[in-house]
Amino acid sequence: MKILLLGKNGQVGWELQRSLSPLGELISLDRHGEDGLCGDLSDLVGLRATLRRVRPDIIVNAAAYTAVDKAEVETELADCVNAQACQVMAEEAAALDAWLIHYSTDYVFNGEGSTPWAETDAVAPLNRYGVSKAVGEQVIIDSGCKHLIFRTSWCYGARGSNFAKTMMRLARERDTLSVIADQIGSPTGADLIADVTTLAIRRVLQAPELAGVYHLAAGGEVSWHGYASFVIDFARSHGEAIAVTTINAIETSAYPTPARRPLNSRLNTHKLCRAFSLHLPDWQSGVTRMLREILDK
Ligand code: NDP
Repeated sequence: MKILLLGKNGQVGWELQRSLSPLGELISLDRHGEDGLCGDLSDLVGLRATLRRVRPDIIVNAAAYTAVDKAEVETELADCVNAQACQVMAEEAAALDAWLIHYSTDYVFNGEGSTPWAETDAVAPLNRYGVSKAVGEQVIIDSGCKHLIFRTSWCYGARGSNFAKTMMRLARERDTLSVIADQIGSPTGADLIADVTTLAIRRVLQAPELAGVYHLAAGGEVSWHGYASFVIDFARSHGEAIAVTTINAIETSAYPTPARRPLNSRLNTHKLCRAFSLHLPDWQSGVTRMLREILDK
């Protein structure tokens, strides 16, 4: 079994390097490529040539243009990486009869209401990043290739920067913080996403009828304000020198950004849990583990 992993050094890609390695021969690329292989999703010709040369049984695409605000101006690049590259991967996967495993986002939804989004709900992205991700999903589905698309939300990893690390840094430096309290979602660890991906791949190889779109997020829900408070309380109880005394809860409208964000980022994960017999742990357990990894260093 030959697996080609794209985006190997992103949050999810890094964890996939670990979780996919027992499945078969793993060829992992970042945007710089190696051995003459192209891992740059903005180079569609190079990407296609690489897929034809490697001839993988499974393509796992963890690469994406994820700079949500910058995507409002770098629209062409975001569309190329998040949508046109998916078209190339899907066409080549179909030609090779390979599986294409891809990731998408709750940002394909408009964030209305408070009901967790189901896979059958209509997409209506609020920003250019969301549009590019929605198109990427659709070209994969339309191509007819064997695919798994996992929509996830509020992803974090212990490696690199993340919201929790930023909040801890600010909490050490300032006595007051203001954090958005009307966007609700579920912080989801890159390790959980990678582990579920690997379990699901093992299962679909035996049961290809399970191909499709799935929502993948940790259990429970929280606002960014609640998430920040959890992180800061944990850091304080862990002996960190925390200066912050007040964490103000603010509305999205008080913190304007170039890209609009959905208020309701809740994802209904019943389909995934049923199809793959999974239990998704609550968001606190993964965040606590990540905080321990950072703070116990
Ligand atoms: P990261 O931003 O951590 O990783 C994305 C990776 O893609 C980076 O390694 C980046 O490389 C790479 N990349 C960017 N542009 C290119 C390019 N032109 N060619 C090749 N590689 C490129 O994202 P995550 O790991 O968090 O995201 C994984 C998936 O999950 C993505 O599909 C994302 O859309 C989705 N998702 C993420 C969420 C989140 O909160 N992060 C929420 C919901 C969904 P470099 O570092 O060199 O730029």
